[in-house]
Amino acid sequence: DSSGESLYRVVLLGDPGVGKTSLVNLFAGIQERDLPEQPGEDAYERTLSVDGEETTLLVMDTWETERRPQDEENRFHNYCMQVGNAYVIVYSVTDRVSFESASELRIQLRRTRQAENIPIILVGNKTDLVRCREVSVEEGRACAVVFDCKFIETSAALQHNVTELFEGVVRQIRLRQDSK
Ligand code: GDP
Repeated sequence: DSSGESLYRVVLLGDPGVGKTSLVNLFAGIQERDLPEQPGEDAYERTLSVDGEETTLLVMDTWETERRPQDEENRFHNYCMQVGNAYVIVYSVTDRVSFESASELRIQLRRTRQAENIPIILVGNKTDLVRCREVSVEEGRACAVVFDCKFIETSAALQHNVTELFEGVVRQIRLRQDSK
């Protein structure tokens, strides 16, 4: 990359309540007590050092920021599908409906960005809620294989695998850069 500057847009997708904002807050280093949240402040930039090299991610948590009229919302979702250099599709392991939505988002993404080989990471969040689990780790992994994306399970509550998630995003982006 001759420009020397590398900033990559990472868009979070997924049903309401699966933990997108919690994950992005951990990425941004925001503590729960720093909230109440500020409207409009839904993209966070951070430079990560991964494998001895720095990469800046701009993580966008804009999927459902505001309630919009349906046609506007569709247009906005379409926009989100266009602007990402990488996607993180989040579901909750305690919510099978959100897992099914994740598949639909993956299909929608493939349709929108047909020829492109963009990194997509499927994330099963809320692994700490062991007794409420509705989606097994095997199902998550199998889904990722079918949809040709990476897979990780996280717990934003326990801060488990969240660093690994965003480092994984960086590695996936680099893999695509290197093979160009
Ligand atoms: P979003 O709508 O996808 O942005 O989800 P939020 O980040 O707002 O989270 C929705 C709710 O789930 C909040 O009450 C969070 O505290 C909770 N939550 C998020 N991640 C986890 C997790 O890993 N474990 C548990 N137990 N709760 C979580």
